[in-house]
Amino acid sequence: MARHSVTLIPGDGIGIETSAAMQQVVAASGAEIDWEVAEAGAACMDVHGTPLPDSTIEAVKRNKVAIKGPITTPVGTGFRSVNVALRKTLDLYTCLRPVTSIPGAGGRYEDVDLVIVRENSEDLYAGIEFEEGSEDARRLIEFVDESGAGSIRPDSGISIKPISVTGTRRIVEYAFEYALKHGREKVTAVHKANIMKHSDGLFLRVAREVAKGYEGRVAFDDKIIDAFCMSLVMDPSQFDVIVFPNLYGDIASDLAAGLVGGLGIAPGANIGKDYAVFEAVHGSAPDIAGKDIANPTAEILSAAMMLDHLGELEAAARIRAAVAAVYAEGRSLTADIRRATGSDAVPASCSEFTAALVRALEER
Ligand code: NAD
Repeated sequence: MARHSVTLIPGDGIGIETSAAMQQVVAASGAEIDWEVAEAGAACMDVHGTPLPDSTIEAVKRNKVAIKGPITTPVGTGFRSVNVALRKTLDLYTCLRPVTSIPGAGGRYEDVDLVIVRENSEDLYAGIEFEEGSEDARRLIEFVDESGAGSIRPDSGISIKPISVTGTRRIVEYAFEYALKHGREKVTAVHKANIMKHSDGLFLRVAREVAKGYEGRVAFDDKIIDAFCMSLVMDPSQFDVIVFPNLYGDIASDLAAGLVGGLGIAPGANIGKDYAVFEAVHGSAPDIAGKDIANPTAEILSAAMMLDHLGELEAAARIRAAVAAVYAEGRSLTADIRRATGSDAVPASCSEFTAALVRALEER
């Protein structure tokens, strides 16, 4: 088995606990990983003057593969999201989020098996924003007025929603290539093209063009985001690979996670042409941070995706099998899963759950 050097950004909040749990489980899987720990987040501000130091970017570039815990983004301040900055800087244009039922995890359905492919670099996440009352906002409002496109109230803050042909083509191609490689049958593009003709409309047009190149190999359909949400909740089995512009993909990821037992078990990856950064869907959960009660499964399953990416398929499969065994057995499950299953059994702590998982791996 080859040794791999991987950048680990533990993050903050519950990231500290879930990242430590993930390292223990990866070690027990037999994969040989040299962790290069790098910092990011508010705690770096004092030392580095930025929440995303160059040394962290360089570390990811050097190793090409990283796994990160969640990082808190204070709301309503000038502090920009480190997560978004990392995705932009490394051009991690695909956010890949498989949503799979784990028997025993308290999902609303037993057999959910779908894959969310979220565009990660543009849309309302482009970070192009104009503050209410600023000179730039005033000029933009004036321009819109003069263009005849409509009018904007003078006391508006404005976020720009760019969706490009280039960005759409590469994400939809990724979705189709993923479907082909993993034996999936259908790609669904989700949008609101009936209302936003020049952004979502473009997304749909380009998705249809790309789909033509896969005719006869992978089926294609599309759904309007609101109708999609209802269809997903009523019958997730009608979906397979689903490709979204950035914001809808973000929201749909949490919705889909809710169908299978919650954020505690939802893994993900940010993938570009040159680099890949694996991370759970959930955030830093300040409400439960530091209490040893977070569920580390999502980060552990993100590590399994990372091991697949590194070619360590056996170690990844061992981790997934051990997770399945611990959930099926049901004795050492964390509080979020106890709530999802409606069980009043005493919940396991993050450490107890991790220990059970390590034991399950060692028994295999
Ligand atoms: P969150 O995902 O942190 O928490 C939402 C709810 O789910 C909370 O009740 C939390 O306790 C629960 N939860 C989340 N993960 C859990 C786990 N592993 N085990 C048990 N319960 C879990 O979302 P939020 O509260 O909206 O965001 C908190 C912070 O995280 C914000 O600063 C946000 O910007 C940041 N965030 C970061 C990332 C990232 O780093 N990729 C992603 C999302 C949010």
